[in-house]
Amino acid sequence: MQEEKRNFSNKLICPVSAKCGGCQLQNYSYEKQLEEKQSKINMLLDKYCKVENIIGMENPYYYRNKVHAVFDTDKKGNVISGVYEAGSHRVVSIDSCLIEDQRADSIIVTIRGMLKSFKIRTYNEDTGVGLLRHVLIRTGYKSGEIMVVLVIASHIFPSKNNFIKALLKVHTEITTIVMNVNNRKTSMVLGEKEQVLYGKGFIEDTLCGKVFRISPKSFYQVNAVQTEVLYGKAIELAELNKNETVIDAYCGIGTIGIIASDHVKKVIGVELNRDAVKDAVINAKRNNIRNIYFYNQDAGEFMNQITAEKQSADVVFLDPPRSGSTEQFLDSMISINPKKVVYISCNPETLERDLAYIVKRGYEAKKAIPVDMFPGTEHVECVVLMSRVEK
Ligand code: SAH
Repeated sequence: MQEEKRNFSNKLICPVSAKCGGCQLQNYSYEKQLEEKQSKINMLLDKYCKVENIIGMENPYYYRNKVHAVFDTDKKGNVISGVYEAGSHRVVSIDSCLIEDQRADSIIVTIRGMLKSFKIRTYNEDTGVGLLRHVLIRTGYKSGEIMVVLVIASHIFPSKNNFIKALLKVHTEITTIVMNVNNRKTSMVLGEKEQVLYGKGFIEDTLCGKVFRISPKSFYQVNAVQTEVLYGKAIELAELNKNETVIDAYCGIGTIGIIASDHVKKVIGVELNRDAVKDAVINAKRNNIRNIYFYNQDAGEFMNQITAEKQSADVVFLDPPRSGSTEQFLDSMISINPKKVVYISCNPETLERDLAYIVKRGYEAKKAIPVDMFPGTEHVECVVLMSRVEK
């Protein structure tokens, strides 16, 4: 582990922040970071509704439960691991990061140190030679479970059993190890094929009292502490009741829908990623939930379909990726005519674009609550309640 460095106001400083570029606000005090995020959200959203004060973290460090390191070899032949330098494919070497889970960082450093003695070469993007491309680690906040995904460029991983034995000897806290084969020339981290080398092949974690299984390829919010805050606010804003049918669009492993399911009659979840939907179905069973149904489909197409079938929904939660939703989705959603829409967004710009579209079509925004899911970075999450304007 690198030694922690602090500035005069006792703030931790990152030695590679300029090169890495991941934490654009790392040099600000946490209060100042929150102010910046608040004013960004106010500027974009206060023309629509009241914006509440951003909810920050008590301890804004080491929160990322998903840690990804790219492996490479420098000019002197030393193995390095870290992140791509902002806007390039040069690897910035990192031992420890101020926002990543420290257990994960330490496992990555151990793996780096093991490669030489196991004669494992790092993958070279230009020549296609070498084996180890990336290491991805996911940690359960409440469960403490740790999954290590070794992304390699070939199906053949020489002396893998000994490698795993040696890794587990140093890190007894690891609960599962998965080998992922990515033999394509791509900037995508994970390939299609997976083989579980140790443990169950996924981790579990608890959020808002429900247990969730998370596979290597499924989306899971990176900050568990703030996710509970965010989901809690989303459910509170929706003021759900037992007669209602709810749609959880872009549902990932089913988190929001499963948490909402106790409060309503029925939940329908839709998600494009096949592995995430598989996890969602298992998660519903795992939590003994019988009033939830998941569909593996594009959310826009799914909404179109249920509009055509004249199905109804009282509340729609939508939590799209950074690119936001689509007009196809929003048009169908509006024609289903839900009383309430709860929009959860990790990108205020696309949120604003989509809100502008929805408020022109019979809805009004009632309240926006920003939640700081990504301290240190410029990113900000926000949940907005909209309701149908009754004529
Ligand atoms: N609500 C979940 C996931 C939010 S992330 C949670 O809080 O954990 C956004 C999700 O949208 C991802 O799981 C992604 O796979 C999914 N997604 C992306 N494009 C989609 C589309 N066109 N249709 C349905 N789901 C999509």
